[in-house]
Amino acid sequence: MDARTPTGRNPAGGDVGNSTAPRAELQPPLPHWPDEGLDTAALSDDPRPTAPNPAGGDRQLTACATPAAIIYAVPRKKSKPQCISCGREQVSDEHVFGRWVSRLFADGAPFTLTKAPGRSTPGLKVINVKNRATCSGCNGGWMSRSESEAKALLPPVIRGEAIRWDSAQQTRVARWAFKTGLMLDRSSVASQVAPRQHFRFLFKQQCPPESVTIYLARYFPGADEDHVAVIGSSCRPTGVNPYLYPDPYQITFSVGQIVFQVVGHSGTAPVEIRRIGRLHSGLVIPTNDQFQRLWPIRTEHLAWPPTGAHLNTPSLQALARF
Ligand SMILES: [Zn+2]
Repeated sequence: MDARTPTGRNPAGGDVGNSTAPRAELQPPLPHWPDEGLDTAALSDDPRPTAPNPAGGDRQLTACATPAAIIYAVPRKKSKPQCISCGREQVSDEHVFGRWVSRLFADGAPFTLTKAPGRSTPGLKVINVKNRATCSGCNGGWMSRSESEAKALLPPVIRGEAIRWDSAQQTRVARWAFKTGLMLDRSSVASQVAPRQHFRFLFKQQCPPESVTIYLARYFPGADEDHVAVIGSSCRPTGVNPYLYPDPYQITFSVGQIVFQVVGHSGTAPVEIRRIGRLHSGLVIPTNDQFQRLWPIRTEHLAWPPTGAHLNTPSLQALARF
């Protein structure tokens, strides 16, 4: 999903920093994360029956060579939709990006919202990405307070101004980034890959768990490129050790010039992503310096933007794809 403003205008203002830094096209972050994958044992030619699922779930495939067949008919309990954060039996419409975000780009409106694969909605006054995952109590309570905190801290970085955040400010930004990433994940434009317990964790602890890492980067489009006001995606990454990192997920979004990438899993191990880029000459270089770790907090005072080169539009789109 990305929301763009007309080509030729920089919606977020600010000047281009690091213009002499080498431009690297981003490669998928290393190490790759694993596919969720099909249960290949269930699809094999092995004639031995698979043990029945004691939980009575309906997702298990069985292959049985004996004539007798056992059919499980498990009535599905009808339940009211529950708030994914607090568990209350009520949900309401929630905008993933608050109105204050759209207002920052008022000069660039109307927006065109593009959803993969290739569907776009032009002429939008607000960045209209919604979900029905949380209740009105959460929306109007702690989530609204988090939006207010973000509104006080983020506009300068969205415009591209250099800042320093102390650890309390970093925690507020991390809370908002994690909340926004999770809400994006449960919207119609994303993949719904973040585990439910992370929604509960955020509700109870008001911060991300230690198994979640949040990175920051800076986006600035090249002169001949489209200006992306907001980009967002979530995916199940491939190639990661499933024992160390169960249910891995990766949520990427940008607002103006600041880029957030949330990587996490349902285990306990911390995650650190190594990244490489390829220069036009073909040389492969590490691009870790284009990213800064926001969470878990590692410094008393975090200075943004990162020291490395900023991401241009193709790099930002590549980051959101992987
Ligand atoms: Zn709730």
